[in-house]
Amino acid sequence: MSVIKPYQFLPKEKIEHLANDLLRRMEGTPTFPNWPGVAERAVDFLDLGMVWEKIPHQDGRPVAARIYPTQRLIEINEDIPKLQQDFGFAESTIAHEVGHWILHINQDEADGIVEQLELSLDCVTTEQPFLCRDVGERIALNSPQTQADWIEWQAQYFASCLLMPQYKLEEERRGRDLTKWSHLYAIQKDLGVTISNLTNRLQDLGWIYIPKGSKQIYPGNTVRHGQTKIF
Ligand SMILES: [Zn+2]
Repeated sequence: MSVIKPYQFLPKEKIEHLANDLLRRMEGTPTFPNWPGVAERAVDFLDLGMVWEKIPHQDGRPVAARIYPTQRLIEINEDIPKLQQDFGFAESTIAHEVGHWILHINQDEADGIVEQLELSLDCVTTEQPFLCRDVGERIALNSPQTQADWIEWQAQYFASCLLMPQYKLEEERRGRDLTKWSHLYAIQKDLGVTISNLTNRLQDLGWIYIPKGSKQIYPGNTVRHGQTKIF
């Protein structure tokens, strides 16, 4: 068995379920999910490490972060100023790496290799870190084409579900009007996400609709009530 799982199709519901499951498991622990900053709490809960490092470009494109499964280590690129300056972007990137850990890494196998390395220092590991480019924008512009694109899409969708679970959004929308930008910015601040993360998530859920190229927010028509509590 390989440390990295072979590609598999994952429906959105399955990815959302896995993100909710992680939030549920975090409940009652010192890393109890609360916002903003839920991505780092998930990293702690999963006993992963996280460091800021210089990560070289890949194929001429900047790499936001990567994960070394056998070291349980997430590296965030310190050369991308936006990651240091934009809390929401950093949260999204970290949650994306957590997504790879949950969705794409054979965790037993990763741990097994760590054990073997500890036993034998002569062992040469063949790590295959996931390299994460600034996928949010790329995938927003182009639909995923290759399996590698889909793997990135899955991790990003997981990040969106982890940072903005429906039960939390239900809580946030109470007393607010989702068609007002000022209210969306208030929610964005509470959750520690970027405004585009938030509007993409709300549009994906059908709670709002923003026509392409427009700043006008319309109410969605598929609002669901009372079905989304996970606790
Ligand atoms: Zn990635």
